[in-house]
Parts: sequence; structure tokens; C-alpha cells
Amino acid sequence: MKIRTRYAPSPTGKMHVGNLRSALYEFLIAKHAGGDFMLRIEDTDQERFVEGATEIIYRTMEKTGLIHDEGPDKDGGFGPYVQSERMKTGIYMKYAKELVEKGEAYYCFCDKERLASLKTEIVEGKEIMIYDKHCLHLSKEEVEKNLAEGKPFVIRQNNPTEGTTTFHDELYGDITVNNSELDDMILIKSDGYPTYNFANVVDDHTMNITHVVRGNEYLSSSPKYVRLYDAFGWEVPVYVHLPLITDENHKKLSKRSGHSSFEDLIEQGFLTEAIVNYIALLGWSPEDNREIFTLEELIADFDYKRISKSPAVFDIVKLRWMNGEYLKAMDLDKFYEMAEPYLKETLGEGFDLKKIAAMVKTRIEVFPDIAAQVDFFKELPEYDIEMYTHKKMKTDAASSLEVLTEILPVLEAQEDYSNDALYQTLLTYVEKKGCKNGYVMWPIRTAVSGKQMTPAGATEIMEILGKEESLKRIRKGIEKLNA
Ligand code: GLU
Repeated sequence: MKIRTRYAPSPTGKMHVGNLRSALYEFLIAKHAGGDFMLRIEDTDQERFVEGATEIIYRTMEKTGLIHDEGPDKDGGFGPYVQSERMKTGIYMKYAKELVEKGEAYYCFCDKERLASLKTEIVEGKEIMIYDKHCLHLSKEEVEKNLAEGKPFVIRQNNPTEGTTTFHDELYGDITVNNSELDDMILIKSDGYPTYNFANVVDDHTMNITHVVRGNEYLSSSPKYVRLYDAFGWEVPVYVHLPLITDENHKKLSKRSGHSSFEDLIEQGFLTEAIVNYIALLGWSPEDNREIFTLEELIADFDYKRISKSPAVFDIVKLRWMNGEYLKAMDLDKFYEMAEPYLKETLGEGFDLKKIAAMVKTRIEVFPDIAAQVDFFKELPEYDIEMYTHKKMKTDAASSLEVLTEILPVLEAQEDYSNDALYQTLLTYVEKKGCKNGYVMWPIRTAVSGKQMTPAGATEIMEILGKEESLKRIRKGIEKLNA
């Protein structure tokens, strides 16, 4: 049997990290097994529909490399792939009527007032109305008459009130619920649209889906799905309900965290490959403790049986680290191309940005870190002369003043401000003085950068700054140390 998976997003906004994880796992399950990965747009909830959201889905899938084999734009013989279009073919109504014939569903004509008068229950913090099966008891003639009169109706699932239903999930195992807890959920709404719950089952079956991966918020509805599959006599797909993704405070990852969607992460300067890699590990781990994976490597190694059901904590610090690893491994030209806008924003024109890019490549975790690394090139920051004191280098304010004062005329006389030439000059001075390198390099680097930590050494910085600016900064250092 060919493995067929689907990503079935509802176009309701940004690409949440949890949705991307479902898409990724569905993609990996299919590709690992040489199967097909399908994209289905679930737009039956017209109230939640957000303009432009479908485009976000396409763009994200393409960008992340989760390329579907079938979907609205790629017919594989199972279309249409958009639920609102499927509805027009009459498929949902046809199957709903089949259930009515079998006694597994029924027409309900109850109006708002009657429904409002029914008992409610609090289920998982939400107030749920429990339908009392009133319309189940209408005679065939009454139903026919109502339909002929054009009375508005919904079609409800007829769930038993006694006994139990067992449902199997790959992670959670067998889950048994009392049928008395299953409400007669609506399958076809009064606007003729199917509910998500019904369309999902009809589509997964008619599209030959073998594995369904989704967030565990759907776990509680799953017994009702199983009843639908059984009523039709269809085989239930393999269900994998994924654990919740939480923030650092173990609360559901939400907009408030500032990094709950793919778009947020891209805006914050994360690389697509690093995001995908990180998300793969939000609930799944390989046999060894390896952490860096390309998409190809994930396809080769992904085994859905190794998904864990403990909540996955989205750790932005870890993602930053991972992103840094990707930047280190990146080819310099590509790095430069991506870093250039950030460098330009901080430094403007007039610097050798390519050289600066090479300096920061291994020192940043995300591109926005660049600003803090390189801003001193543009302008010497205010700094404390305490910074000249370094125990290991055996430097202090007095020794630094001496070195800067002695080296200033040498550097004034020097024409060649290349890193190599400057380094040679400083080495000669070190030898003459008979001191350690750091004794000279530390105060000079401090003077030209005004910073404790810099992405490069004194002479590399001077090469970038050029003669005039380097000398200006050294004179400033002398002035500060003299004051
Ligand atoms: N349309 C559902 C959603 O976006 C998909 C759930 C499922 O994969 O079955 O949440």
C-alpha cells in the first residue's frame, strides 16, 4: 500500500510553528516511505477564513522545501483539493445522506431558540451544548415535509448513548471513551457546508490518506471520527496526535511569545533551514543525539515511531544556537549576500563590508546580531579607561598610555594600512620592547574599537578603519588616558 499523507491547513492566518511541524512530519512520513504528500485546503469555516492566508501557506511550503506531490495546483487524480470546491461536487452531502439512510445520522430542524434552551456542559473549559436527540425521533414523513417546505436544517451524527468507543493513536495508544460523552456533532451545517470534522473524514478516506498527523487538540474529537469510519465501513488511517508546543513557561506557544509563527522567525532573522531543522526536533529525536539535519537527512532518518508525547518546549535560545551553526557552515559568498543588508543598515557606505562579513560570520547567531558586533566601526563608542586594564595581558592605564604614545608616531609614518603590514609593524615594536604581544595589541585594539569584545584583532580593525580614523582613535585614547 502506498503511503499517502496530507497537510490540511485552514487558511486562518500566519503559519503557526505547530502547523509547520504537522506539515513537516506529514511530509517526512511520506517521503521516508517513498509515498505521496498532499496539500488540501480546509476552508469550510467561512467565518475563520482570512484573506491572503492561502498564499502564506503556499509560500511557506515552497520556502521550506515541503513540496507537495498533489494539491490545488497539482492534480493527482484526487481533486478538487480545496474543500469549498469539493463541496460544490456534492460529495459531503452524498455521504451525509448515506449515513442518514443507515440510521447513523439524522436531519435536525431545531431553531436557535430551542437550541439555546438546551442543557450545556463545561468540557475542557468550554461551554458545550449537548443536543438532546429531539429530531432523531421525527418520523420519515415529518422529515420529508420539513425538507419539502424548505425548513433550514443541519445533519447530525447519531452517536449511541451507551457502551464505549475505542480509538487508537500511535503515540497515545488506545483511548476508550464512554459513548454518553459523544455529542451528536453536526456533519452538515445549515449553510450546506460540511463541518471540519465531517469533511476531514470524508476527504481523508476518499483521497486514500494512510497517515494523519495533527495537533493533539483534535484528540478528543477522534472517537467521533472513528464512529464515522465504522459507520461507513471504512478503514481508519494511522493517527499521530502531536504533543502541544509550549513556550519557556510551559504555556501553549502563542502570539504573545513573539515567535509563534514561521513569519515571526523569518522576520527575526532566522534561516529557513535552521527553523525547519529545529521544528523537526520539537517532539521527534533520532536514535543518536544528532541535532543538525538537512531536509534530505531528515527524510532518510525520520521514523514517526520515535515521536515523543511529552510536551515540546520551544526554546528560542536553542534555535539561536542552531541558527549560528548554520551560519558558520554557510559558504562565505552566500553569507555575505544575506548579511549585506544588515551591514549596510548599521554601517552605510564606505566600508569593506565583505571583509567585515567574514569577521562576524562565526560570531553571530542571527543576522540582527550583526549591528552590535560592528557598530563601533561607524563610530567610536564612549568607553571607560578601565577597559585598558587586563590582568592576563599585564596591561593597565599607565602601560597602555606608554604603548599608545610610543606607537603613535610609528603609525603616523606608516603608509601601508593593510592588516599584514600593520601586524608586522606591531610585531617589530613588540620585539624591540621585549614584551608579550597582548601587552601591545590589547591597548591598541581597545583604542581603535572602544570595546571589550570585537570580531577581529587590532590590525584587522585598523585596516577597515583606514589610517586617518585609526590615528584619530589612538590619539583619543591617549587623551583619555592622560586626563
Ligand atoms: N484544518 C485543520 C487545521 O488547520 C487540520 C487538522 C487536521 O490535520 O486534520 O487545524
